[in-house]
Amino acid sequence: MATELFSEIEYLKGVGKVRGENYRRLGICTPYDLIYHIPRSYLDFRTHIPISQAENDKPCVLKLTIIKKIPPSRIRNKLVICKASATDGIDNITIVIYNNVYSFNALIENETYYMYGKVTGGFIQREIQSPVYVKADSPAMIQPLYRLTQGLAVNSVRANIRQALDIMNKSSFETLPQDIMERYGLSPLMWSLENIHFPESSSASESARRRIAFEELLKLQLGMLMLKIRRKDLTSAVMKKDISMADFYKTLPFELTQGQSDAVNEIIADMCSGTSMNRLLQGDVGSGKTAVAAAACYFSAKNGFQSAVMAPTGILAIQHYHTFSLFLEPLGIKTALLTGATSAKQKSEIREKLLNGEIQVITGTHAIIQKDVEYKSLGLVITDEQHRFGVAQRAALAQKGDSPHRLIMSATPIPRTLALNMFGDLDVTSIHQLPKGRSPVKTYAVTGRKREGAFGFVRARLDEGRQAYIVCPMIEESESELFAVKTYAENASRTTLKGYTTALLHGKMKQSEKEDVMKRFSDGKIQALICTTVVEVGVDVPNAAVMVIENAERFGLSQLHQLRGRVGRGKFESTCILITDNKNEDCIRRMKIISSTADGFRIAQADLDMRGPGDFFGNAQHGLPPLKVADASDIAELSEDVRKCAEELLHNDPNLDNPEHRAIKADMLRLFSKNICS
Ligand code: ADP
Ligand code: MG
Repeated sequence: MATELFSEIEYLKGVGKVRGENYRRLGICTPYDLIYHIPRSYLDFRTHIPISQAENDKPCVLKLTIIKKIPPSRIRNKLVICKASATDGIDNITIVIYNNVYSFNALIENETYYMYGKVTGGFIQREIQSPVYVKADSPAMIQPLYRLTQGLAVNSVRANIRQALDIMNKSSFETLPQDIMERYGLSPLMWSLENIHFPESSSASESARRRIAFEELLKLQLGMLMLKIRRKDLTSAVMKKDISMADFYKTLPFELTQGQSDAVNEIIADMCSGTSMNRLLQGDVGSGKTAVAAAACYFSAKNGFQSAVMAPTGILAIQHYHTFSLFLEPLGIKTALLTGATSAKQKSEIREKLLNGEIQVITGTHAIIQKDVEYKSLGLVITDEQHRFGVAQRAALAQKGDSPHRLIMSATPIPRTLALNMFGDLDVTSIHQLPKGRSPVKTYAVTGRKREGAFGFVRARLDEGRQAYIVCPMIEESESELFAVKTYAENASRTTLKGYTTALLHGKMKQSEKEDVMKRFSDGKIQALICTTVVEVGVDVPNAAVMVIENAERFGLSQLHQLRGRVGRGKFESTCILITDNKNEDCIRRMKIISSTADGFRIAQADLDMRGPGDFFGNAQHGLPPLKVADASDIAELSEDVRKCAEELLHNDPNLDNPEHRAIKADMLRLFSKNICS
């Protein structure tokens, strides 16, 4: 590729210091970056309408002939307003252009144009504001719309892109082998870049976009798969298939569901395979992932290996410790808990017992994988609620020690196509089924006026012996309309929940206080827990059967599903009441979806469709590179093909060393940070 493409953006004609800065603010530093500044949508000038049909304050396309240009007037120091009168043959309109004399000067009286802009004003004096336009006889009837900041006018951006593309065009360039393009129906790169910016037709821009989105996802998948393959080389704890699980199943207080036992079998097969397991276990809230994890620990212990179970919070670590000790201690397996709150004396005792192998299953927070914690024979590391760990952390963890088997449990189900991208470095097991006898949580969205009635219902359930969560979004009263959990709790104990035992739980409380409250709640000593989203992840109190969520509009779909998953975990019929006065379209849609389905995978898909992939990609937490082109529908449509394509490429050329793969490899390395893919 021409080296000029990677020089400073100022290399391009007409880009000086100021515009250069504006570009950099958009993350565009080089001509190459500019080429990959893909249009957000297209403007089709053929969709023009008469002035009389233009809606107020909405952008539209008009076909206008300039009647008369009025000389520009300078209003304040910085503001220049240019006006011209124009007609569509029936009605007249004023064209108003702010601060862009260049665009105004290019207009010619008596000439006809297609103009796209927002139409304002009453029916007598209508105006079209700073329109984007082309001459009516122009062949470029479809024009891209870019994400722009102030100081970057469409026409000059187009001119800059034109020049950058011309530089790239000097040497023909292709990143994909011919046979791949043919098999997956992909257009050539140069043609695609040309047609994504300057489309010949709308089908050309679509096919260009598809090619570029495919390539972007392919780079991502190649990076993830290379990570995965590299990890497979590492040696690890080899376990023996013929170790019996019968005793474990006998003492378990319930029978595993089909989904759970399939998951256990996959995990056992992985741990016996001779290469290290890197598996994601995802399942809907309440599907019983903990029992699967306990089974894996049992198998590992029977093989003479230790297991470490890592939870993101102290509360969850304690809860897991209770579950694991309940399931495993009767079978003679020694378990222990290690968190930040463990005393120094206990800590050193635990460290000693981990080193001599006495403790077989340790549960805790990050503390358990710190440097000063050494194991006699660590065979399995389980991390719960994986979404707090990103690709980079996964890569780092895999490099630790003798590379134990790794099981990652996700509380947030995600659609398979998204999982392929986000967790492409892992094998994935999904549990789609809930234990028998669970009825879906009845969910209602109501406005604040129904709050009194809702609490009448809550009290009735508390009287029956059930427990409740009341979730509020904030801790302190900072935004007046939001229910702050502290004030809320005080009020509730005097009004709606008078006479009931309540307690407060939020993230700013001391660890020991939080643990104490959670313990009293799970022991049934607290009837209603008034809390923030600290209860969102993983908490398991089967007697809790009602949840009220205040300011429900503040929560995303997946988060609402997680929260709701705290109830409906036992044999009692459960209810979730969402309270919101928000009438925003987006909010209403979320409330409808969450009330109408209990299927976490479907909710996750809807969440992705509504929010776009930006929450996952380019987000520091996940450590995935940002996606510039592919959107939620590209991910849904292309991911399976992209995965197949990436697997084929790596199957034939594991290091992508073939000359025809070098370009895509270089691009892939550019996309990922070096420390992941070097
Ligand atoms: P999650 O997948 O959300 O982490 P948990 O592992 O916390 O779910 O399990 C949810 C609840 O279901 C727990 O109370 C657990 O004891 C119970 N449970 C798990 N598996 C089964 C099963 N096969 N039959 C009945 N109850 C089960
Ligand atoms: Mg869980």
